[in-house]
Amino acid sequence: MAKKGEHRIKVGLVCTVCKNRNYVTTRNKINTLEKLVFDKFCKHCKKITQHKENDKLK
Ligand SMILES: [Zn+2]
Repeated sequence: MAKKGEHRIKVGLVCTVCKNRNYVTTRNKINTLEKLVFDKFCKHCKKITQHKENDKLK
């Protein structure tokens, strides 16, 4: 039986405005080949900004 989550990797989400890493999420490296982009609230910019996937966290 295949373990759930074995293809999920942790990635950081970085604000494209101030470059701070505000979120950590996971993505399925099998299903999701493109970089993730989310509109999320940045506590540094104090507004909703675009957050892009940045580094992979082990
Ligand atoms: Zn920001």
